[in-house]
Amino acid sequence: MLGAVLEDLLTHALDAVWMVDEDGTVRYMNPAAEALCGFDRSELEGQPLARILPPEVAAVHDQHMRHFAKQGPRFDVMGKVRDFSIVDADGKLIPVGLRAFEVPPQDGRRCFGAIMRDQRQQKRLEGERDRLLHRLAQQALTDELTDLPNRRAFVEELERVLAASRRSGGPASLAILDIDHFKRVNDTFGHPGGDWTLRAVAKLCRAALRGEDYMARIGGEEFAIVFRGTDLAAAQTVAERVRQKVEQTTIQLPAGGEVEVTLSIGLAAFEIDSDPDGWLAAADTALYAAKRGGRNRVATAERAAEVARTA
Ligand code: GH3
Ligand code: MG
Ligand code: MG
Repeated sequence: MLGAVLEDLLTHALDAVWMVDEDGTVRYMNPAAEALCGFDRSELEGQPLARILPPEVAAVHDQHMRHFAKQGPRFDVMGKVRDFSIVDADGKLIPVGLRAFEVPPQDGRRCFGAIMRDQRQQKRLEGERDRLLHRLAQQALTDELTDLPNRRAFVEELERVLAASRRSGGPASLAILDIDHFKRVNDTFGHPGGDWTLRAVAKLCRAALRGEDYMARIGGEEFAIVFRGTDLAAAQTVAERVRQKVEQTTIQLPAGGEVEVTLSIGLAAFEIDSDPDGWLAAADTALYAAKRGGRNRVATAERAAEVARTA
């Protein structure tokens, strides 16, 4: 039907090539089409193409073919390459890229060509790429040691909380937590003991927080918490609970040894002209006041300003 040279070329083509007449009957399929759908050409030639179409497509396929057949002689049936799928001999749905177009009539009947390219590998690679990108994005925002969000993630969250409070006029508060005399832990128990302690403190704090409080590790032995929709007094209560929890806990090191640490916490309320840096600086000033005041305490930015004025 096609001529020997063309037949040879199509026999070796990498893509599935089909020819279908105006009734939707398969008139030709090449070996790549056989491989793609798992049917032998002897099984499909002369049969409706709908046999390899997903049921919902097969149901309307005849109607589509009649619609195409009513169009002009060079009607570009479906235009560009588009996503499509077929069902193979085992009933598996196979995603394909499809380009369909009209070819010169055969035996007085209008005919359409279809080229299909198997998209399974590409879909698999796309899925893998998306998963990898997602993981990379997660890693870029996560602190490896504690599994808490890192400083970058925290600043992004601060931006979101600031925007929400500016919109709603509602309160928000920020705390910076710094472990007191942490150098001593490292000096006494070595860096691994210090790391273990950091992880333990992170867990203790996280467990003492409410679900909506966002906690991150923003530096070596520094953590931060942003309290959405929470005024300074309420945040102070939560911060105090966190401080006490850490103060009251003895951390057991796996290599033996017990660590007791305390936290100094600086708190600052959202103000309408706050930006992340300014807000962090205000909380940091409060933290400094807590350290100067003797450590193992919570200080607020207002109190810090007062102390600075009266000092
Ligand atoms: P202060 O009460 O004034 O906060 O005293 P400090 O000893 O906690 O303060 P300083 O900031 O001087 O020391 C912090 C120490 O934390 C120094 C650094 O070696 C240690 N550190 C920072 N990051 C890590 C870490 O990832 N693992 C461990 N084990 N130690 C860390
Ligand atoms: Mg520090
Ligand atoms: Mg410290």
